[in-house]
Amino acid sequence: MIKIKSILKNIVIIGTGGTISGVGENGKTVSYKAGSLHVHDIYYNITGINELANIKEHIDIVSIDSCNMDFSVWLKLAKTINELSKHDDIDGFVITHGTDTLEETAYFLNLTLKTDKPVVITGAIRPSTATSADGPFNIYQAVALARSEEAKGKGVLVSFADGIYGARDVQKGNSCKLTAFNHRELGCFGYIRDDEVYFFNKSLRKHTNSTIFNVENYKDLPKVSIALFYAGADSQILDYLSSTSQGIIVAGAGCGNCSDSWNLKIKEIISMGIPVVRCSRISNGIVTGKNENILETGVYGNSLTSQKARILLSLALTKTKNLSEIKEIFNIY
Ligand code: ASP
Repeated sequence: MIKIKSILKNIVIIGTGGTISGVGENGKTVSYKAGSLHVHDIYYNITGINELANIKEHIDIVSIDSCNMDFSVWLKLAKTINELSKHDDIDGFVITHGTDTLEETAYFLNLTLKTDKPVVITGAIRPSTATSADGPFNIYQAVALARSEEAKGKGVLVSFADGIYGARDVQKGNSCKLTAFNHRELGCFGYIRDDEVYFFNKSLRKHTNSTIFNVENYKDLPKVSIALFYAGADSQILDYLSSTSQGIIVAGAGCGNCSDSWNLKIKEIISMGIPVVRCSRISNGIVTGKNENILETGVYGNSLTSQKARILLSLALTKTKNLSEIKEIFNIY
């Protein structure tokens, strides 16, 4: 009898650091150094990984705590994946990442990668030296997702603790539990049980091949800053940000609301030609500009969190400074 060996998919694993590659006191979950190990050291002896896929290549792009993530690393990641994805013998990508800014990297790549091949980001809440470290299982499931046919064309995905999330709406919702990620009130894309992938949803917003953003020739991106509003907040912060940034995101209260002095200042800044996007400091709901008294000709963040709106505004500013065009961009992505 001829035994037909199933052909394994070729996956590239890209390490960026984070707790998943953190090393600390044996058994403990806190007090460790993120980004201490090479990516090879955190995946090569995971039980069953070699039966899932052929890990064709591993690359350490950087090895940092993800709080040190910035545009230069994002551009490097985007360019590396865009280049490698042209190779027919590469089927998908897994990125290991710190959980603190994982959702931001996911959204940046979702808007700038030019591939339909699965790109899956994962991380861990516990360092590699902790008792019951969650990194190995998260990598195992990320590889299972990256090799799956169903993951193609769905934009950048996040795989974490049995869940599948889309880059636009995923957020870190808990600072210490193993189920740290959620998709806000928008549900999730699906689940993974062991290595089996179950999709139920996808995003209707444009991503990857269908965006207008192409970062191939960029070395940096326009600086956009975020101002957090709170009761009694001094509007001088907006003066400072308007003198140092090309765009501002306001994380307002409720539906993007701010005090009279902030509203006045926002109008002034917009009239100076600096785009201001109103978001909410609340992670659920939508900011449309049709709410309450914020009807200046600004841009509204829709359902994007401030940190994701900042990425979109920065990319938008590579295309246009026109407010109605930026508004349209926020309606599309
Ligand atoms: N500070 C770490 C990081 O983002 C936290 C983590 O990975 O969970 O790199």
